[in-house]
Amino acid sequence: MNGELRDLYQEVIIDHGKRPRNFRLLEGATRTAEGFNPLCGDQLRVYVKLADGVIEDIAFQGAGCAISQASASLMTLAVKGQTPAQALALFARVHALLTEGPHALEPPAELGKLAVLSGVWEFPVRVKCATLAWHTLRSALEGGDAPVSTE
Ligand code: ZN
Repeated sequence: MNGELRDLYQEVIIDHGKRPRNFRLLEGATRTAEGFNPLCGDQLRVYVKLADGVIEDIAFQGAGCAISQASASLMTLAVKGQTPAQALALFARVHALLTEGPHALEPPAELGKLAVLSGVWEFPVRVKCATLAWHTLRSALEGGDAPVSTE
């Protein structure tokens, strides 16, 4: 990855980490789940409103490092309007990106803004920060109510 692209990705992560989108309690949520990453101390709760088979609205609340907040923020933007199956398929792509690196992005454009997470794979200790929101979303979609831990 060239330096300019890396800087741009970092800017987006810092922006979303500081001003996370959809950071709120979601009135009328039909699903919710809680996630915790003991490695870093990140915790969050994801709220999902399912209607007509799609994620009509999604929001989250919590506290944690910039990467966990930014990843949750970007996730809410990416999966809104998707079916649960589409959202879980997207998680699989994001997981591959985070654990295998940018070469897992084929074709590159498919992940849209989530591509900014591609720098995270160079910092394995941060991967769990970035996947926490997604694990929690999966738990919410699958209807589990036990808290999710990345450990
Ligand atoms: Zn973290």
